[in-house]
Amino acid sequence: MEKWEQNVRKVVPYVPGEQPKRKDIIKLNTNENPYPPSPRVAEALRDLTTGTMRRYPDPTAERLVGAIAAFYGLKPSQVFVGVGSDDVLAMCFLTFFNSQKPILFPDITYSFYDVWAELFRIPYECQPLDGALQIVKEDYYKENGGVIFPNPNAPTGALLPLSVIEDIVAHNRDVIVIVDEAYIDFGGSSALELIDRYENLLVVQTFSKSRSMAGMRIGYAMGSERLIRYLNDVKYSFNSYTMNETAIALGTAAVEDRAYFEKTTAQIIATREHAKRRMAELGFSFVDSQSNFLFVTHRSCPAAELFEALKEAGIYVRYFKKPRIDNYLRITIGTDEEMEALYAFLERYLAGRQ
Ligand SMILES: *Cc1c(COP(=O)(O)O)cnc(C)c1O
Repeated sequence: MEKWEQNVRKVVPYVPGEQPKRKDIIKLNTNENPYPPSPRVAEALRDLTTGTMRRYPDPTAERLVGAIAAFYGLKPSQVFVGVGSDDVLAMCFLTFFNSQKPILFPDITYSFYDVWAELFRIPYECQPLDGALQIVKEDYYKENGGVIFPNPNAPTGALLPLSVIEDIVAHNRDVIVIVDEAYIDFGGSSALELIDRYENLLVVQTFSKSRSMAGMRIGYAMGSERLIRYLNDVKYSFNSYTMNETAIALGTAAVEDRAYFEKTTAQIIATREHAKRRMAELGFSFVDSQSNFLFVTHRSCPAAELFEALKEAGIYVRYFKKPRIDNYLRITIGTDEEMEALYAFLERYLAGRQ
């Protein structure tokens, strides 16, 4: 190592799912929404001009914050927005996790949490999921420097009921508890209804999954005015202009179209419930997912083999070569046509193996 390298911050970065250049594939590997964003987003895009670009965007992203607040019945002062929930969550780690005690999160979960903890040098301790890949609430009763978990969890899809979330928050009134609700719109109850009673609870959501806008990068946090103020203080100490004008305009249009949001999430839920029946018939078992993906394991075919065979056939899913989950595949719920192509391939492939 060169002498100057000793003072370099060295990190092992997060590895996102593959974004192949090929267009002729069925892409079920990164939990994107198979449907386009609301038609109002296309309209708002047509209304944009380059005229405003020479100016800095509104640092408070007032229109977008206001639209999100109106959608959820909150005050704008209870909403924080960022460049995808990855940006919001990173800002949360920096703002809220400053204890000498370890923060707690599950061992099998969103694989960005340990990356941020390492990046910001936050001590952390992973709590193992049980044999059925479920969070054990009692694991979060011990002393800690903060708590974060997704609900539904990723990559399992398992949903905790609101009563369990409240139990975990009630046992952690001296630290910040963050519930990462990237997938909550696909069938769960949001912890949002608890924020009036727990000033230390922060709920984080995203436009990437249920609002079909992963490419636009919009995420948000909702909580007490005090938590949001602390987040904004850190944001304005880092980069005042995280949200560009285009994201503010298009995100506002998306969130104002409640009917389209409800229609497309209901469609994905219906496709997912059908997928559960078909995958069970094909010999798969899985956690009872309430998200837009299934986390499946097959009774005889190893996941690693199936992953390669699917890829060869132009069907991309996600495989994590990690302890405890290396015989599972995470399959995003696509359109009905995409899912039928998946079942047809699996049927042929699994029959051919016997
Ligand atoms: C997808 C996802 C995110 C990040 O989404 P953004 O695209 O950055 O908004 C955060 N947490 C979980 C659990 C996710 O699955």
